[in-house]
Amino acid sequence: MSPPASDLLSVKTIPGAGRGIIANCEISKDTTVLNSEPPVAHVLFREYRKEVCAHCFLYDRGRTLRVKDHDTGKVFCSASCRQGWVDYTGEQGRSAWRDLYHLIHMKNKGGKGSSGISLTDHRPGIEEIDRRWEKAQRGADEYVRTRSDTSNALGDTGRKQAKGALASSIDPDILGYLLSGILHHDQQPDRWREAVMTLAMHDEPYSTTHDLEAHCNSFVQLCSIMPVSLLRSCTIEVCRALAAASSHNAFGIRSGGEDGEEYMGYGVYPSASYFNHSCHPNVAKQRVGNVWRFWVTEDVRQGDELCISYLGGDEKDLNVRQRRGHLQEVWGFVCECARCQRG
Ligand SMILES: [Zn+2]
Ligand SMILES: [Zn+2]
Repeated sequence: MSPPASDLLSVKTIPGAGRGIIANCEISKDTTVLNSEPPVAHVLFREYRKEVCAHCFLYDRGRTLRVKDHDTGKVFCSASCRQGWVDYTGEQGRSAWRDLYHLIHMKNKGGKGSSGISLTDHRPGIEEIDRRWEKAQRGADEYVRTRSDTSNALGDTGRKQAKGALASSIDPDILGYLLSGILHHDQQPDRWREAVMTLAMHDEPYSTTHDLEAHCNSFVQLCSIMPVSLLRSCTIEVCRALAAASSHNAFGIRSGGEDGEEYMGYGVYPSASYFNHSCHPNVAKQRVGNVWRFWVTEDVRQGDELCISYLGGDEKDLNVRQRRGHLQEVWGFVCECARCQRG
């Protein structure tokens, strides 16, 4: 599944730029060089929950989609998409989505729990992240032990942690993103690990302490509702990897083309993550349902690097200083592409 390799391209180490994708041979303009797999984790934002097909990501100009799976609250563009989703997700996955749907529903009825962004909020460093996740682990242990029914000897700290996480507000988007990744992990743990753990991981992926808190609470909340058979995949290792991978590997799921106005969610597509950036890319991409197609926009020679642009919409028209500033801020690198070097 990843890294990608075919007759046309392979992944190589690029001096000064980590890994990248190199053309194995001459490739003529408009040739498709990669079709990605479906995402290994994704989220469709809650505000679009009635408008985007949960299976093929179709969005029909804001219209509410009619075909619904009442137990999970998912909507679909057609009965065949609903069936496709049911087959793909499996009975166990569906049961987890159903439990999450009930949790969100219950929480919404009960009003918001304690939450909020404090004025002293900052980007948490590694030590703070480790500490906070250790706390979450104690809260999760509470549920895992009671639910697998092996022992009832629970520590006070664990009980407090668990209660705190459940009383706190919920974040349906983080919960949905984590659950989708957990379900993928559970289907094929080894392949998942190979695909996700080899991506470029961000050590400090949480933009604020609030964001970190929300991830940790979501993890404990998922442990509290997850079917017991899925608990082996609902682990801190998986949830932390999902956050670390999403920072620099997620592709936006937008309406229409690549630069569609509606930002409806995002997904991690491992094989597509090996393309480096250029401000004058030779590869374009388009989402086709829940996968991405990549093709070359010019004739490419053997040994050329294949690059996409990480810039969206108007960002492509920024001058070199603005472009480099933006790429450094969002992606953490100084762009040395041919266009930037020309100035
Ligand atoms: Zn559909
Ligand atoms: Zn550049």
